[in-house]
Amino acid sequence: MNNNRLRIAIQKSGRLSKDCQDLLKQLGVKLNLREQRLIAHSTNMPIDVLRVRDDDIPGLVMDGVCDLGIVGENVLVEAQAERAGGTQNADVIKLSKLDFGYCRLALAWPQELGPQDKSWFEGKRIATTYPEILKQYLERENINASAVMLTGSVEVAPRAGLADAICDLVSTGATLEANGLMQGDTILESNACLIQNPNLNDSDKLALIDKLMPRLKGVRQAKE
Ligand code: ATP
Ligand code: ZN
Repeated sequence: MNNNRLRIAIQKSGRLSKDCQDLLKQLGVKLNLREQRLIAHSTNMPIDVLRVRDDDIPGLVMDGVCDLGIVGENVLVEAQAERAGGTQNADVIKLSKLDFGYCRLALAWPQELGPQDKSWFEGKRIATTYPEILKQYLERENINASAVMLTGSVEVAPRAGLADAICDLVSTGATLEANGLMQGDTILESNACLIQNPNLNDSDKLALIDKLMPRLKGVRQAKE
């Protein structure tokens, strides 16, 4: 890999991919995106785009494998909490919040139980893909409950008897409803954001970022 080129990590396929590709296009970054390629080289700027799973993006940027990344705040906060207190770098510079990828991390439980307050969660098992964010919330709220880590299909966990409740991403609430779940407290609100490795000190790369940032603001204003 050529180290002189600015490396940007984006989600390969999923809810953020299309918006990330559109954003790069609006910033004037021309890309030749071939479906199966991990790396796409820009044809008009010294930029390489790495297309990976969104969960890998915070770590790639924290470790300086990529200079920039676009990822949901939910994934970023979870990754930072995971690394907290360890020896690996958990810092990134948040360059900008982006106007896509909005969702919220919320608690939910079987609808037939009806409305519940926080005390109901005492001693319960809560399925989630975000155990660290959930644990922080439970500590903050003084609730003694346990997190059951699931990387997918969290919404079926109560029905499958794997957990009493869930803590999952919601945008419209349709998935919760389809699974007979009632939505409770929001633990975290999230948008996609642009992050930078804090130790980046290559002056050419920093100059390129300085050149792109005003364009990003321009794109955001044009949309408002
Ligand atoms: P990957 O294969 O890259 O790991 P994924 O299945 O983890 O993909 P997606 O479902 O594509 O991820 O979601 C990517 C991000 O989109 C989420 O982390 C979140 O920031 C955002 N997002 C926006 N709305 C929603 C939603 N309703 N449900 C889940 N994620 C959402
Ligand atoms: Zn993911």
